[in-house]
Amino acid sequence: MIQKSTVKLIILLVMATLVVFFTRKVIIEKFPGNYPMITPSLEFKTAFYKDRVEFTLPKATKSGRIIIYAYNIEGGYFGILKPIYNNTVKVYRNDFADFSINIEWNKITDVIFLKQMDRYIKRVNMFDLLELGRSKHLRHGVQACLYPICTKCTDGCKSVLPNGDLPIKMMVMKNGQIMPVFFRGKCPRCGKCFIWCPSEVIKKGKKPWEM
Ligand code: SF4
Ligand code: SF4
Repeated sequence: MIQKSTVKLIILLVMATLVVFFTRKVIIEKFPGNYPMITPSLEFKTAFYKDRVEFTLPKATKSGRIIIYAYNIEGGYFGILKPIYNNTVKVYRNDFADFSINIEWNKITDVIFLKQMDRYIKRVNMFDLLELGRSKHLRHGVQACLYPICTKCTDGCKSVLPNGDLPIKMMVMKNGQIMPVFFRGKCPRCGKCFIWCPSEVIKKGKKPWEM
């Protein structure tokens, strides 16, 4: 005969197993427990035509959008958000920059949105800037990270570490594009940056045993 206390213990164990089983997915999604991983810059080819500049990518980004950037002679960064069709992005003669970014010593000091609602507060021709970049060897190209139009990763980080020094920072790379840089030691692995990133520039990193 099984004793009453043994039956109770078995029922308790079964119930505990069921609770763990059904809450496991929720807990894992809330705390993925993985560090973020920054994907390498996109390779691309550029072709200049009379009426447009075409950028050919190996593949589209998850969001189907990308930023084309170009620097002027004074070192100012200008960017335009563009759709990707058939792995190609086109900048036409009459396309104007959506925003500009002031950069000092490779640090972002200010962001100005040049297109506000349906009008431009200042018209800066992207086609002309790209032409200038080609002839004067100024930095220009493709940026998979949608900053400053998107700030989801740093917003997510701030919601977890409101008073902290953020483990994700937007930085200017050698080729002039702006990308997130991750400082592993400070990150509590909440997962918001890689869950929220619309372009998969930040991905869920692998744990050592998943490699
Ligand atoms: S949002 Fe910030 S704290 Fe959360 S995983 Fe990303 S870097 Fe770490
Ligand atoms: S969430 Fe992704 S696309 Fe948005 S700023 Fe961060 S890295 Fe860039």
